[in-house]
Amino acid sequence: MRTWCSAFLIAAAALTQAQPPPMTPPAPAVRDPDIDRIVAEISPQAIEATVRTLVGFQTRHTLSDSNDPKQGIGAARNWIQAEFERMSQESGGRLQVELDRFTQRPSPPRIPRHTEVVNVVATLPGRQAESKDRIYVVSAHYDSRATAPNDADSAAPGADDDASGVAAMLELARVMSKRDFDATIVFMAVAAEEQGLQGARHWAENARDRKRDIAGMITNDIVGSPVAADGTVSRNVVRLFAEGVPPQKNLPEADLTQIKTGGENDFPPRQLARAIRGAAELYVPHMTVRVVYRRDRYLRGGDHAAFLDAGFPAVRFTEPSENYAHQHQDVRVEDGVQYGDLPEFVDFAYLADVARVNAAALATLARAPASPDNVEVETARLENDTELSWSANREPDLAGYRIVWRETTAPFWEQAVDVGVVTKYIVKGLSKDDVVFGVEAVDTAGHASPAVYPKPYRPR
Ligand SMILES: [Zn+2]
Repeated sequence: MRTWCSAFLIAAAALTQAQPPPMTPPAPAVRDPDIDRIVAEISPQAIEATVRTLVGFQTRHTLSDSNDPKQGIGAARNWIQAEFERMSQESGGRLQVELDRFTQRPSPPRIPRHTEVVNVVATLPGRQAESKDRIYVVSAHYDSRATAPNDADSAAPGADDDASGVAAMLELARVMSKRDFDATIVFMAVAAEEQGLQGARHWAENARDRKRDIAGMITNDIVGSPVAADGTVSRNVVRLFAEGVPPQKNLPEADLTQIKTGGENDFPPRQLARAIRGAAELYVPHMTVRVVYRRDRYLRGGDHAAFLDAGFPAVRFTEPSENYAHQHQDVRVEDGVQYGDLPEFVDFAYLADVARVNAAALATLARAPASPDNVEVETARLENDTELSWSANREPDLAGYRIVWRETTAPFWEQAVDVGVVTKYIVKGLSKDDVVFGVEAVDTAGHASPAVYPKPYRPR
């Protein structure tokens, strides 16, 4: 059961003392038994094999020799491509594998010369006509580095950063490509993350220019260890970084209106994070998605930033507490301390649980309807009811809409009401001044879309 269900009872009692709610609360969250099976099929052994194979290429530095068949970034890329192609065969050819290859112009200091950058991309097309143009991306970077950012020769095992993410992503592709989803899922291993997010930026900007509907992007980067530098183990926690207001000099009028009305925590990346957290609670209840309201950690970046900059909702999974002796370090022993990003510091059972969280979230998102469009809250007059409206969804399996809300100071949805197939609803006795509302679309199997913040609407 979702945690907001218990919060619902407490908060509902407090809010409705004066007036009983004229609404029926939503049915308890409905499980999709096939998502349970997807989660169960994620294999720690397969994930471990991937991490060890990627480490075996010695270095996957973007500037390393890409023609060597045994080591370097080219060998790693060929292997990832072959893995996707094997899965494609096993899925009857439904998984479409391609290389997104381009020449990155010099961009000192991290890209000193013209450099070929190749993303390995596998697309699982959506099965529903109304949803197949809606795309979810799950990504990880297959390049690695040692201490010096441009050292293309030293060993750079990159077991946690980011063979862990690639292994999780490949395992999702293996398990999910045998199944049907309404929306399209893109599984992606990008290069040149360590050289300035070049691979992800190229793909994201191309998607923006082609007006592709990227409804959500998840990067898995450093997701392999629950052990902090001081030895503390947080076995059941993964962090999810989610940006708030887009950090642009000139925000569009609609964004300014959202901020002026208290919607600063309700831009699409945080709605995406809430949906991911909800799916994890339902299908992987022993894992806690610790949502962090921040683009990323201080001094660090990741491929989700390239998608955010291109205008797409994007979030980042990272392990609960990082050990910097095991990241971006030459492999060596110093004062009895082992440095280096080695597979012995990856916990494959933990990493499999992070992959399960991803699987639950992606499967739910790709089977749910699109988030409703044109969600508005009427502000024609001063009143204590709240009138919400939205445009009708087009999916044939739509069951209706769910209005969710929470205290303005609360991070996650606390209450909800299912309102059926309508495009307007008045929440009686609950003022838009006092809570934050959202509207979700729900299908007949219970999959819910991320919520949408209502824009104020004043009829003339
Ligand atoms: Zn990384």
